[in-house]
Amino acid sequence: MKKVLVSIFVLAIIGGAILIFIPKTQELIGIDTGPPLIGIQPYGSIADQEVDSVKNSIEAMYGFEVVVLDKKEMPEMAYTEIRYPRYRADSLLKWLTYHHPDTIDIAVGLTNQDISITKYKGNTREIKDPEWMYKDFGIFGLGTVGGTSCVVSSNRLHKNVSDKTFYRRLMRITCHEVGHVLGLRHCPEANCLMNDANESIKTIDNSTGDLCADCWADVR
Ligand SMILES: [Zn+2]
Ligand SMILES: [Zn+2]
Repeated sequence: MKKVLVSIFVLAIIGGAILIFIPKTQELIGIDTGPPLIGIQPYGSIADQEVDSVKNSIEAMYGFEVVVLDKKEMPEMAYTEIRYPRYRADSLLKWLTYHHPDTIDIAVGLTNQDISITKYKGNTREIKDPEWMYKDFGIFGLGTVGGTSCVVSSNRLHKNVSDKTFYRRLMRITCHEVGHVLGLRHCPEANCLMNDANESIKTIDNSTGDLCADCWADVR
């Protein structure tokens, strides 16, 4: 009888151990599954060097594993001609949410096309003034706070700057957008990477390139 009880006990432990090592089970029973796996989704004619620098920047800053997904054409559903022919960043985020493989925890879309959003007054649904400008406003990147995806555009980062500055900007924008996905909102600390770009690339250029201590403490 004792032998039977011991066998049942041993089997239960082995069974429990197997369940804990199945990732899906870990999610169901709420065990922390460790750092997220990041997938970069390159779009269209984006240069390999830009993809590499985005990959390296996430690895260096957050220490996460990053994989590069197969290149895809820009999703037609995100195309707009509201002000200029370009792509809506909010639509790209939606596309990414539904089109990345299940194995990826966070998707980072990367494009060399111009991307835009509508900017609203505070938390209202009223478009910021002047409306003609903010109804379709060009941006560097967009990330969902605490979500699963962000998108980065290298389109506006080249203008009149050296390659070195261009790549530094690209890496910083990427880490800022990934920061949003990791749960960070904009930070009032002037030199923090999560400071709002204030519609200016200068904020990114003047940043330390790192998160402040408060932001690091809030990374999910
Ligand atoms: Zn931001
Ligand atoms: Zn901060």
